[in-house]
Amino acid sequence: MTSVLTAAAPLQTFDVERVRGEFPALQQTVHGHPLVYLDNGATTQKPNVVIESLERYYYLDNANVHRGVHELSERATDAYEGARETIRQFLHADTVKEIVYTSGTTEAINLVAYSYASRNIKSGDEILITEMEHHSNIVPWQMLCQQTGAELKVAPMNDNGELILEEYEKLLNPRTKLVGMVYVSNALGTINPVKQMVKMAHKVGAVTVVDGAQAVAHIPIDVKDLDCDFFAMSSHKVYGPTGMGALYGKERILEEMPPFQGGGDMIDYVSFEKTTFNKLPYKFEAGTPHIAGAVGFEAALKYVQNLGLGVISAHERGVLQYATQRILEIPGVRIIGTAGLKCSILSFVLNDVHPSDIGTILNLHGVAVRTGHHCAMPVMQHFDVPGTVRASIGLYNNREDIDIFIEALTRAKQMLT
Ligand code: PMP
Repeated sequence: MTSVLTAAAPLQTFDVERVRGEFPALQQTVHGHPLVYLDNGATTQKPNVVIESLERYYYLDNANVHRGVHELSERATDAYEGARETIRQFLHADTVKEIVYTSGTTEAINLVAYSYASRNIKSGDEILITEMEHHSNIVPWQMLCQQTGAELKVAPMNDNGELILEEYEKLLNPRTKLVGMVYVSNALGTINPVKQMVKMAHKVGAVTVVDGAQAVAHIPIDVKDLDCDFFAMSSHKVYGPTGMGALYGKERILEEMPPFQGGGDMIDYVSFEKTTFNKLPYKFEAGTPHIAGAVGFEAALKYVQNLGLGVISAHERGVLQYATQRILEIPGVRIIGTAGLKCSILSFVLNDVHPSDIGTILNLHGVAVRTGHHCAMPVMQHFDVPGTVRASIGLYNNREDIDIFIEALTRAKQMLT
């Protein structure tokens, strides 16, 4: 097997045609048309290096991690812990103690809700989130408020889908104990000023949780620069496997938190009288983990790092601008989410046509988009739409994809209106 764990060689400029060739799923036809994959906000396709890393792991290295004395277990442990170090570097965290594996963003946020917040938040306290959160950053806090008697507050956005920062600031007060904020809205594409929001939240002593699910594939992340207390991410949104993700937490805070789940690996010593817990980050990782997931996650992060997030985001910005300009040529299109600072996402409605009808016709042209509420129902309520059609751009999309999408959309409009 060749270079299975090595990522793509660094590129001087972004060669999108070469990059497309590295994603086998993109080479297929759907309903007789070349696949145009514009559903990257839901999940990204995987490059060869990621698929090969998983294959190699299962072909050669598969074993359970930690405490194994045999060769395969040592290899699996090295790969698993090596991946943690790669995630640390990707996020610019200080130490691997601050990197906890989770099944994804959702589990990472729930971990904070159960382990940190249920202990530190009580009746009379407030949790502040924004109006553009994904359900993953709404429902855990609502459940927590029900349990504790704390109150959930929501910072509003304007009709461009931008957070109204003055309103956010007004809602912060000494009762605010935790602030949850999405870095990039999956429904609108809005990039929130999270560094500033974290700073403002810290002024009132609140702990901050950044939902980085849609950010990591498009924006270089430095958790120390952001100064956030927690940062949640999913591997599958950044070209890695599903069922894998990470929670970054400041060491000092994680140290004080009790375990999330009980079981193997998270313990130091167990007796029927008393159990003591493992050190960070293992205290939060009960049971046999998704070892192959970590291996694939690492390969994905290295792939993205080798291409360069700066170059990727410049390329994607160009494609998004082109798509925005082209879609506005179609009368009746209303873009949902017109923030000044956006990435990847083009959400829209077309007259009063139901989004799923449009999605169904686009699919017949080989174009994959997502339709519906995108797990952000309050965003749909704000814009008074049942849902949107969402085209979301990844690093392998080019202008030709957009041309095909626009052509298919024009046909859909002719059929449906
Ligand atoms: N937050 C945002 C902004 C998302 O886009 C998503 C995925 N759609 C999530 C959280 C949840 O991620 P996961 O399903 O990977 O846990």
